[in-house]
Amino acid sequence: MSSQIIPVEPFDYVVFGGTGDLAERKLLPALYHRQLAGQLTEPTRIIGASRTAMTNEEYRNYTLAALKEHLKAEELEETEVANFLARIHYVSVDAKSDQGWDDLKKLLDTGKDIVRAFYLAVSPSIFGDIADKIRDHKLITKSTRIVVEKPIGRDLASAQALNDTIGKVFKEEQIFRIDHYLGKETVQNLMALRFANALYEPLWNSAHIDHVQITVAESVGLEGRVTYYDKAGALRDMVQNHILQLLCLVAMEAPSSLDAEAVRDEKLKVLRSLKPITDGNVEKQTVRGQYRAGASAGGPVNGYQDELGAASDTETFVAIKAEINNWRWAGVPFYLRTGKRLATRMSEIVIAFKPIPHSIFGESAGRIEANKLVIRLQPDEGVKQWLMIKDPGPGGMRLRHVSLDMSFAQAFDVRNPDAYERLLMDVIRSNQTLFMRRDEVEAAWNWVDPILKGWEEIGQKAQGYTSGTWGPSQAIALIERDGRTWHEND
Ligand code: NAP
Repeated sequence: MSSQIIPVEPFDYVVFGGTGDLAERKLLPALYHRQLAGQLTEPTRIIGASRTAMTNEEYRNYTLAALKEHLKAEELEETEVANFLARIHYVSVDAKSDQGWDDLKKLLDTGKDIVRAFYLAVSPSIFGDIADKIRDHKLITKSTRIVVEKPIGRDLASAQALNDTIGKVFKEEQIFRIDHYLGKETVQNLMALRFANALYEPLWNSAHIDHVQITVAESVGLEGRVTYYDKAGALRDMVQNHILQLLCLVAMEAPSSLDAEAVRDEKLKVLRSLKPITDGNVEKQTVRGQYRAGASAGGPVNGYQDELGAASDTETFVAIKAEINNWRWAGVPFYLRTGKRLATRMSEIVIAFKPIPHSIFGESAGRIEANKLVIRLQPDEGVKQWLMIKDPGPGGMRLRHVSLDMSFAQAFDVRNPDAYERLLMDVIRSNQTLFMRRDEVEAAWNWVDPILKGWEEIGQKAQGYTSGTWGPSQAIALIERDGRTWHEND
């Protein structure tokens, strides 16, 4: 089975930070893939913009090098690469001065009214400068949008200030706050599973679900993002955005349609229903951890502070028992965990159903496991429904726990597109369903801020854990205290 590609209308994508890591690793390869898929139409252009002086030709060489570095050789088709490079332009622009802005204006003002998207792949500290320059140089047309990357603030107050800064220049419907987790195939499949099937929704509540687990595990350490990460930590870097967005998609009520406002209204209600975690319960409901030396990918690795080269109490791991104060989810804990240098790179959502109320099978049938729905985001995106079945054969009634396994790579004869590919095109289509609205971002901070304050007030220290494990023992205790266990990687 293959999917249909619907071409998008022509656009100019201006990538501020066109020479940065995000553009090189993600944005340019994602846009090339859309070229390869036949989705780009004439006269689409991609315009790199940053301070470094470069000609168009030099930036095309930079782009080609990025494609060669980050894509497989067989993905680089000569004609398509040439067609893609012909779309690439570059302007040297400084967010902090007038340098280059007239050149950018000249390049953009072609007289054709096509979609214009500004992607801010730069530090949030210059979002405001860029927004102001865009306004001052009259670069906003009827079909202009702006895309901003995380982090959106480091607490509620700074997020509000950043949103105000951008909001002074752009209307909310022009602002696309990207969370690339929402562009993942499986994340959207979660909506399809829940709302395109009659099977799950009647069971999707506290009467039938025992608990939910959301794990976003990385095996890597700091990877160069030292200054940013040490100031942020795992709660700000992963929980405030990616994990809470996943929690919202699991927990929200059925929206009236897939319309962006309908979906985002429902997600917002979930965020506002999260039970506050404050200094009174933060110790019981959360665990902070920091990796020590250990082994990763078979080799020895240093601890966080050695990598950092300084003493630090920043958490590289966090586990939280979250609760949602509404009728659907009362009494159903959502166990959240994320960390660096964990045993493996893996992100998944586990919906753990309640055990059967009574077994008609004798002891010889074996243990009856409760059903689980496992939604795997990475690696190997797919869904597994764990069920009990009879062990085949004439040996009497013996039961076995097996999974109905739907690995997307195997089930569909298509390449699994990177999340950025979909999101970049959604910007052009002006579809905000998979982007965060201002009030969502701020509601998420509103829940995260008291946890940060609680940690500070009670002096909750990051517990050491050996690199290559599943985090501090306190994280295992957090769930085992409730008579549950973290889902094993299967
Ligand atoms: P980066 O590698 O440091 O790149 C920053 C870019 O900004 C460079 O192209 C730089 O080019 C440009 N720049 C800096 N000052 C400028 C100015 N005054 N005017 C115009 N351009 C300027 O950063 P990154 O890793 O790509 O990250 C960019 C943003 O995305 C950050 O907000 C980051 O948190 C976010 N993000 C990144 C990733 C990732 O995987 N890298 C993932 C999620 C979110 P010049 O020096 O030539 O000006």
